[in-house]
Amino acid sequence: MTQAGPNNQCRRCKEQEAVHTIRSDPICNDCFCRFTTTKTVKRLEVLNRETRGSRADRLSADGSNNSLRKFYAGLSFGPSSSALVDICDQIIVGRLSRGRDAAFSLHVVHIDTDLERSDSQSPVEQRLERWRARYPRFTFERVPLTDVLSLDTIDWAVLLPALSGLTGSTPPTLPAQLQALLDNLPSATSRRDMLDLLVRRLLISRAATATETPPYDALLLGCSTTALAERTLTETAKGRGFSLPWQINDGAVEDGTGRQIPLYYPLRELFRNELVLYLSAVARPPLIEGDFVLLPASSMASGAVVSHRDLSIEEVMARYFAEVEANYPSIVANVVRTTAKLERHDHDHEHNHAHDDGERAATGCRVCGMPLDEAGNERWKGEIGHLDGPEGTPMQRIERLCYGCERSIYG
Ligand SMILES: [Zn+2]
Ligand SMILES: [Zn+2]
Repeated sequence: MTQAGPNNQCRRCKEQEAVHTIRSDPICNDCFCRFTTTKTVKRLEVLNRETRGSRADRLSADGSNNSLRKFYAGLSFGPSSSALVDICDQIIVGRLSRGRDAAFSLHVVHIDTDLERSDSQSPVEQRLERWRARYPRFTFERVPLTDVLSLDTIDWAVLLPALSGLTGSTPPTLPAQLQALLDNLPSATSRRDMLDLLVRRLLISRAATATETPPYDALLLGCSTTALAERTLTETAKGRGFSLPWQINDGAVEDGTGRQIPLYYPLRELFRNELVLYLSAVARPPLIEGDFVLLPASSMASGAVVSHRDLSIEEVMARYFAEVEANYPSIVANVVRTTAKLERHDHDHEHNHAHDDGERAATGCRVCGMPLDEAGNERWKGEIGHLDGPEGTPMQRIERLCYGCERSIYG
């Protein structure tokens, strides 16, 4: 049904002029702002509901500051995680203006993957200074990716075959060695895959083991519907379909030592193009000004492809979804909704007991940390073909990897 009234009238408030088309509705800027914050608030309410038990003991009788929740949030400087920080700030400003409490605070962490410039004078540190000045209510921290090397939940010995030219069986301890490890992986897809999962494991570990009192209530990641749909298809293509319920759905994740932290995607019902629009249309001043946000070339539909060989599966998928999102948004949303119906068949009940390290370590992939699905892994190998371990790699090491990691590391 077409809207009566003057041309260009906002379909929601029916007062202001419509300046955007969102989900095929012409709407004004204020209504667009409300649309994005409401979508996010609803997800945060789900988080509150599902994790309420874990915080009951810290609620003070008068419901004062102790009831404020503390979230650990990842910031890549991409459009979605950047929008998450601003939307959270908007939500808090709105609550305070209505005389309510702030409800939550954020500790925002950027994992710095620049292995060459990792000192405190790095461009990343300067960029974070601007974020700190802009959002004084939140705290910001730069964590160098090299910190991942201290995680003994990752089997560095398995990754060592990728470290050609480096001697010894000790874990790499220098940025150069981590860089060499990534450089020596067999393809662009492998490098991107390993980088993504090292960042994810580091964030989960930091959030779960932070010596905060009380501990963080959850880890928030700013993935949009579009990003989650992309990951669904890329992880399936890479042979980690089994891990999708842990990677795409909200809920507790494990850090590899038995500690759990709830991981939520509060922007899961917003499309990437809506978040990009948010950065320029709602955030004040716009977040795309002043070098706050890095818009990656691969998020642009029209980016010219020089050579497909140099593109990772993730980049190919991002280009594909940029087009699908623009023309058939319901397909993108359906991919994520379908994944949300997958259940986690895991060892949660076992993990809740303290196990000997050796025993528990055998249950998950020693690189990505996802539960191993013995039957599923065998199926993947059967369909795609068995891999022979590289020279000198003990087979029992490879068998502690999921199929996806095995492919990423050994090609
Ligand atoms: Zn309106
Ligand atoms: Zn794995």
